[in-house]
Amino acid sequence: MGKIYIIDVTNRDGVQTAKLGLSKLEKTIINLYLNEMGVFQSEYGFPTTRHESNYLKANLELAEMGVLKPLRLQGWIRAVAQDVETTFKMVPEIKHLNLSISTSHQMINGKFLGKKNRQDIISMMTEALDAAKSKGAETVGVNAEDGSRTELEFLIKFGQAAKDHGADRLRYCDTLGYESPFTIYETAKALAENVGLPIELHCHGDLGMAVANSVAGAKGVVDGGQDAYVNTTVNGIGERAGNADLVAVLLALTKAKGIEGKYEMGNKMDLSKSWKIAKFASYAFSVPIPINQTGVGANAFAHASGIHADGVLKDPDNYELYGFEELGRGEPEFVETGREICTGRYGGIRGFRHVMDEIMGKSALTFKKQEEAEKVLELVRYANVASQKPLVEDELLFIAKYPDIAKKLLTLAPLE
Ligand SMILES: [Zn+2]
Repeated sequence: MGKIYIIDVTNRDGVQTAKLGLSKLEKTIINLYLNEMGVFQSEYGFPTTRHESNYLKANLELAEMGVLKPLRLQGWIRAVAQDVETTFKMVPEIKHLNLSISTSHQMINGKFLGKKNRQDIISMMTEALDAAKSKGAETVGVNAEDGSRTELEFLIKFGQAAKDHGADRLRYCDTLGYESPFTIYETAKALAENVGLPIELHCHGDLGMAVANSVAGAKGVVDGGQDAYVNTTVNGIGERAGNADLVAVLLALTKAKGIEGKYEMGNKMDLSKSWKIAKFASYAFSVPIPINQTGVGANAFAHASGIHADGVLKDPDNYELYGFEELGRGEPEFVETGREICTGRYGGIRGFRHVMDEIMGKSALTFKKQEEAEKVLELVRYANVASQKPLVEDELLFIAKYPDIAKKLLTLAPLE
């Protein structure tokens, strides 16, 4: 029986959301947390975009060093042979790619304005796929953009062509959030059966069903005899109404009626990192977590009304489907209400050492020399300029532990 894997797209769909963004250090911290959670793959950026190059390369170095392992790092590009060329020129070490092209009549006609037909779409995709494989890509997923408004027959033909040219997965994109759990189940099952490749589910929340559609789609793929790969983002942040929320998808896949115990995750997932990653993404994107958000909202384990409070005090199982401890909640969080020494872009060495001694002390780390501390402080200044908000402990620790990598992440040189 097929298994279910998570491909998180926070660092691609999440960061291309209007009005939002992440610094390269913040993107890196997201990758580190995804790795800790057991996520299979991070769609971690755009290899043809110049300002991503140093970040993409630096994260591949972290993977090489074993820091970002076993998480797979995969780039997203258009299914255009020229983009594959550019990718391997700019990030030669990249090993995993997803190639995206529109497949619906609406988009083929509406975007290419009569200059391309369906056969051209398949040819462009297979050409790009051949190029990626010949350049040394180890795995390539092919994305059918607007798949949910594409006839099944053409999707199967598209998927089969991808398979013939060595694709490793087909991504069924519900780009506009048009799907429902009933229809995506059938389509995903048919794709798994007829294409014979693992299928990715990429769902959006325009009708409020991103998580439900992801789970129903994954069930369809596994029932169709293939592995399913669910695309998620942390806190559901993504284009427009967002993507399927990572924590909600994991909870649904492991605890929902009819799913729990029947379907198996490909990787051992550590849900206890949920709180940490959700809080960090909220801070980094500057988007508050709604009070009623699944698992990580402030009210997810709050009980006030008499019957509920009495019931949960007698036995939490009366009114809670899962425990807060499972998600890494329950630790007190301290907010300094007295004197506070901060560090950042205009900080000096004394304040910086004060802050860092406390943070590094917890991990039994120290600066060996004053010059080392001064170098890290300089990097912290730049990181603070990039993020425009105080760095969190894990960011400061990261810079102290991997100053050379941090330097690459912070190096953003515009066109020469
Ligand atoms: Zn999307």
